[in-house]
Amino acid sequence: MGRTGHRTPEQGPKAAEARIRAAGLRPTRQRRALAALLFEQDTGPDRHVTAEALHAEATSAGAAVSLATVYNTLHQFTAAGLLREVVVDAGPSYFDTNTSDHHHLYDEDTGEIADLSASRIRVSGIPRPRPGAEVARVDVVVRVRSRRS
Ligand SMILES: [Zn+2]
Repeated sequence: MGRTGHRTPEQGPKAAEARIRAAGLRPTRQRRALAALLFEQDTGPDRHVTAEALHAEATSAGAAVSLATVYNTLHQFTAAGLLREVVVDAGPSYFDTNTSDHHHLYDEDTGEIADLSASRIRVSGIPRPRPGAEVARVDVVVRVRSRRS
């Protein structure tokens, strides 16, 4: 599986640079700074970040990157297979460091998003794709919210 999470033995600026190069991108200063924030946190769970949240993190870490650069970099990382974009709402996308097949649990009240293992959700009735096409992926978002009385 194309899992490119942060649980690699290598860490630090060299690892960020190697990851970016391996994805076929040039390791610019800004890409390295953002890759370090995305992939090299301590052994926490995989991350789902919005561009705004990552921009705030980068700013407080002292990295001079604009929000537009953060957006562009997230989309470049996604196109290169380092991240997966998760759209749960009309609002901002989440960028997921877990690129393996999985689903999501989304809390509409808090905006928190968590991984659900693909094996926990069974999907049936997937339509047959047009001739010559294949189903690339099925994304399930389970939405929870406080009970409304
Ligand atoms: Zn995820």
